[in-house]
This record gives sequence, C-alpha cells and structure tokens, in this order.
Amino acid sequence: MKIGVLALQGAFVEHEHMLRSLGADVQEVRLPEQLEGLDGLIIPGGESTTIGKLATEYGLIEPLRVFARQKPTWGTCAGLIFLAEDIGIAHQPILGVMHVKVSRNAFGRQVDSFETDLNIKGLDAPFHAVFIRAPLVERVGAGVEVLATLPDGRVVAVQEQHLLGTAFHPELTRDSRLHAHFLDIVRTT
Ligand code: GLN
Repeated sequence: MKIGVLALQGAFVEHEHMLRSLGADVQEVRLPEQLEGLDGLIIPGGESTTIGKLATEYGLIEPLRVFARQKPTWGTCAGLIFLAEDIGIAHQPILGVMHVKVSRNAFGRQVDSFETDLNIKGLDAPFHAVFIRAPLVERVGAGVEVLATLPDGRVVAVQEQHLLGTAFHPELTRDSRLHAHFLDIVRTT
C-alpha cells in the first residue's frame, strides 16, 4: 500500500512515521505527478490558509480534488478544513469534496489548545486527542457519519465513505489506531 502525505506545510513528517510503523509505503506529495499510483492520501494539520495558498501555486488544487473524489483521503485539523465543502470563508482555497461545514479556530483564543479522551466509533477504548487551534464540524450532510463528539455533542470526527476528517491531531500521539482505521478504508475501497 502506498500512501501519500501532502507535504506543503504542517505536521506531515509525524504522519509519515505513523504510516511507516504500520507497514505502509509513504510518498510526500508536493507536485501533481506525485499523486500517481497512490492508494490514499493524508492532508496534515498546519495552517489551512498556507496549505491552500501553496496548493494553488503548485497547481495542486484540481488534481487533489480529483484524487479525493475517488480515493481514500484523510484530513486532520487544517486538512479537514481543506476537505470541507463549506468553511464560511469565500476566498480561502479549499477542495470542497466532503459534505460538511467546518468552522476554523472554533475554540477561540482562550482555549486554543487542549487534550481530551474521546470515544471514537469503531475503537474499543478511548483515544487521547490533541486539539491545536482546532476546527469544529458544524453541520454534516447526508451520508456523513459522525465518528466522535466532545461530551457536549460538538462533532470532531467524521467519515463519508472513503473520506475521513478529524479536528484533532492523531499523528502527535503514539496511538496508531486511527491510522490503522484509515489503512482499512484504503484496503476496502
Ligand atoms: N487553525 C488552523 C487553520 O485554521 C488549523 C490548526 C491545525 O491544523 N492544528 O488552518
């Protein structure tokens, strides 16, 4: 299995380590041709405005969109923002492939980073989730499954067929269960 990690900006190296520890081959993606032959793609956390700007400069927006419509793609944090169809901001470049509305920096300045144990659908024990200036999923469209919420019901992990989105950073822990879940999606898609 060969998994791409969009390597324009942000926490891509940590995803690569996690994927390799699970036996996947990894390809860093900075150019459209690097998407060829990949079975899946991870779009890391970082700064979604920067990722969008660089993806536009490198001619990656349309190739990424085409890829994500067909093949397993997982966005973490800024990557989730990048996948969403609606972020409530008109001029920020996004792929717009996942039927969710996401709001950026949804926790505000006072609580801009926190960690909490989440119950995630399909995992038998809680997952320690690291949120850093995280987005929230404000609305899910038809066909989007909610995988995890905070105790107050706010949505922080979603799946729509072959697309996965998490508001937190699973690559910053030692828990590889979500990466293993993504590789299962790749195997069965
Ligand atoms: N706040 C960032 C954004 O809006 C996302 C933060 C993250 O990826 N950890 O893009």
